[in-house]
Amino acid sequence: MRKPIVAGNWKMNKTVADALSLVEGLKRDLAECKKVDVVLCPPFTALKAVADAVTGTHIDVGAQNMHWEKSGAFTGEVSAEMLRELYCHYVILGHSERRQYFHETDEIVNKKTKAALAANLHPIVCVGELLEQRESGKTEEVIEKQVRGSLAGLSSKELLDTVVAYEPVWAIGTGKTASPQQAQDVHAFIRGILKAISDEHVAQSVRIQYGGSVKASNAKELFHMPDIDGGLIGGASLEPRSFIEIVQGAF
Ligand code: PEP
Repeated sequence: MRKPIVAGNWKMNKTVADALSLVEGLKRDLAECKKVDVVLCPPFTALKAVADAVTGTHIDVGAQNMHWEKSGAFTGEVSAEMLRELYCHYVILGHSERRQYFHETDEIVNKKTKAALAANLHPIVCVGELLEQRESGKTEEVIEKQVRGSLAGLSSKELLDTVVAYEPVWAIGTGKTASPQQAQDVHAFIRGILKAISDEHVAQSVRIQYGGSVKASNAKELFHMPDIDGGLIGGASLEPRSFIEIVQGAF
């Protein structure tokens, strides 16, 4: 039985003060939440404050990116160990905005995934097709390439520590959500790839989140599909009430 995981990707939003006020708004309803793994992914600048604020609760903290090297001359970058030092347990990798604006390839995402795992961080590895790829019938081809490339060389144990997020790019921040069946079909397809690169146990155990315009009004329907194990939430994670209701949709 897979435990659902709902993560809020705050992107480049929230000062430390704003982040703390959002956490306060979430804590009353989510601090004791045991049915769902709840993860908050603030910008780097607010990680420490958010990690301190959720100490003693069941809420976890994640980062939105990291470099694959441990240290060195990489101006502006942050390593997995630096994130661990701030009590981060998760890191989002290969988000479509990183792939699109910062030219991250599957090879880069793979290096980051391995570095995250080596530092005991759970990577949340994002994959998803563009609208024109879906419309030209290439969704499965694109997803297979991204999943195989991003997860290449991972052991079964490493795959079990990894979360995959299926985020159709056309659904991110657009208000257009994949229908529950469209999302379910891709999630089942991803499980098939996990089986091919590992085994049935891994395929049935790895959690696969859906992301792309999830709201309180559509979360339950999506999260109750058999292969959808919660969500990666952008816009709707920036306001306490909508994020709480989305998490409750995963119960
Ligand atoms: C995201 O950026 O991961 C995301 C899913 O965004 P939104 O929920 O705003 O579509």
